[in-house]
Amino acid sequence: MSATLNWPELNAPVRYLKGIGPARAEVLGRVGVVSILDLLYYFPRTYQDRTQFRLISTLRDGEMATILGSIRRISETRPRRGLHLLKVLISDGKGQIEAVWFNQPYLKKQFTPGADLILSGRVSRRFGPIQLTAPDWELVDEDNDSLHSGRIVPIYPLTTGLTQRALRRKMKEIVDQIAPQVPEFLPTYLVVTQGLLPLPIALRQIHFPDLQDGLEKARKRFLFEELFLLQLGFARRWKERKSQKGISFRTEGDLVQRFLSELPFILTDGQQQSLQEIEQDMHSSRPMNRLLQGEVGSGKTVLAAYAMLVAVQNGYQAALMAPTEILAGQHYLVLQQLFRNLPIQLALLTAGRKGAQRVRLRQDLEDGSIQILIGTHALLEEGVNFRRLGLVVIDEQHKFGVMQRKILKEKAENPDVLVLTATPIPRSLALTLYGDFDLSTIRGLPANRQPITTYLVSSERKTEVYQFIRREVQTGRQVYIVCPRIESKEGEDEKGEAAAATKLKEELQQDVFPEFHLGLLHGRMTTTDKDQVMADFKDNQIQILVSTTVIEVGIDVANATLIAILDADRFGLAQLHQLRGRVGRGCYKSYCVLMANPKSEEAMQRLDVMVRSNDGFVISSEDLKIRGPGEFFGTLQHGAFQLRFADLFDPTTYAVLDQCRQIAFDLAQRSPSEWRQFPLLEKMLQRRFPFGAQRVEVS
Ligand code: ADP
Ligand code: MG
Repeated sequence: MSATLNWPELNAPVRYLKGIGPARAEVLGRVGVVSILDLLYYFPRTYQDRTQFRLISTLRDGEMATILGSIRRISETRPRRGLHLLKVLISDGKGQIEAVWFNQPYLKKQFTPGADLILSGRVSRRFGPIQLTAPDWELVDEDNDSLHSGRIVPIYPLTTGLTQRALRRKMKEIVDQIAPQVPEFLPTYLVVTQGLLPLPIALRQIHFPDLQDGLEKARKRFLFEELFLLQLGFARRWKERKSQKGISFRTEGDLVQRFLSELPFILTDGQQQSLQEIEQDMHSSRPMNRLLQGEVGSGKTVLAAYAMLVAVQNGYQAALMAPTEILAGQHYLVLQQLFRNLPIQLALLTAGRKGAQRVRLRQDLEDGSIQILIGTHALLEEGVNFRRLGLVVIDEQHKFGVMQRKILKEKAENPDVLVLTATPIPRSLALTLYGDFDLSTIRGLPANRQPITTYLVSSERKTEVYQFIRREVQTGRQVYIVCPRIESKEGEDEKGEAAAATKLKEELQQDVFPEFHLGLLHGRMTTTDKDQVMADFKDNQIQILVSTTVIEVGIDVANATLIAILDADRFGLAQLHQLRGRVGRGCYKSYCVLMANPKSEEAMQRLDVMVRSNDGFVISSEDLKIRGPGEFFGTLQHGAFQLRFADLFDPTTYAVLDQCRQIAFDLAQRSPSEWRQFPLLEKMLQRRFPFGAQRVEVS
């Protein structure tokens, strides 16, 4: 092999390495290691400092420790059904400790009395004998050379057929032999100015750190590398779009003037600011790709309406896509109201519209007589063709995937795209997730709003809550009652929820609130019925609306001042915040009552956050903290988009992220000839984010 390896050599299958036969190559394949480069990037999941082992007799409760001892006794118990305990007693000559594993009976055959064992884990001195709970373990064999102790030792993620020691041995050989020949792919100026370890050294240190310091430096380099590649992917996509020819809309005109002057309120500063950003984008001849985030009720819809009018004023059509039929129907009503004095042809398309009505609508869309079309996924269907689509507004980003966005955009040539989201996240996080969007954030709420007061009450106090509801209705206000979420094996059980809501509504109507009009809303009603119920609620024909979570997003009835959520502990934080956003939308003091007897610590934390905060930003970061990034981002952590070094709770990550973003966007602007200086960078980018970071998506 040459002094530095070229790309094909780095990407050769691992079985070309000495000592890796087909069997081991197959096992490595299972953990995603196919090429030599993959193997070099198969990093330890943790490390153990084995420069010296701790004496068992000196261990303190709660600390992390690594010890070396020999196995004295092995025992198994089943204290109750579904619980298996494996206990292994270890001695280091001066003291004894018990290692305990839960429900891993297969571990037993790994251990034999007299064998030497290295254990690493958290010490517990609280109950009975001193213990290590489910520690990392490693049997000491003859091959107990300087590789496995007396140093900071890498601990690799394993799978069946891979043992820690064998893998570590193999890695050592490969790192010794190949790492020095791996070419640096980052531009030299970055390595120098950022003070990064060059790749060959970083690879060596991440696998076999000389000292803690070496490990820190290696981590710093890979953190930079990871965020830089991510942002470079975004920057490339962003640039690609900016080089496309879009529509340059004229933003002044009668229509938008009239709209603004006839609004029953003045826009908040936050709205003004975002409006200007949208206007600039629409005016520009490059396609808009903007994410508009803002607290529930901050007035995003008005801005979307404005943008759609700009399109119409220029002779284009606009489409608004919403995640549910109910929300689409709501948008339709709201827009009808907003445009009531304007000559605008507005239409609603949902899966529920069938037959002649649908045919007619499609024709009107094709000949351009419909100027603004609102709908659900039905907009994506074949046969829905626009004459001249200029703007696509997508509500509630997280419910739509990349594919759907793409299909809708394909119905036109480079239309402007505006995405609305009511789950605002901090700017830095937004740039991690939606790095190829331009970002507008509406700060603050309209001035007439009063903060919503949130109470947590136990489910037994129903009667008091009903009394509270009665009082609100008697003063002329309206109320939502949200039924518990029901989940079955397949996920949300819409049918079960519908049945429960129906039953609850009947009971409440008969036994509790015979004097009021109650309405019912759930996902299994026909479109016509839903529309009717919503219209009646808007007109205050219905005073109390019993509903499933179908009201979660976007429903806008300013007279509704109280929302009671049953079994609130079954909902996620984002969902609760969305639900709460249904009230406090007008000038009346509003309330949210969470009824629950939370059974877990986590549920308690969620409800507590709801009581403490009304701020969507606080809620989303608390949510992230409680659930952890994996859960929070769902699919995001899978596959292409896996951040291994970035810690979303660590300010350092964001400092590096900001820097990487600047550098990446700067680099992306350069000419192709300059790019040719960095051929490997391009390749690494493709390798790490094969979809150009397309997968960065919350769905
Ligand atoms: P979002 O879509 O951000 O949840 P909406 O656009 O639905 O919020 O606005 C919520 C309510 O506030 C609507 O009834 C809307 O008419 C009203 N609204 C919007 N902007 C203002 C404003 N600047 N002042 C007063 N009310 C406003
Ligand atoms: Mg434009």
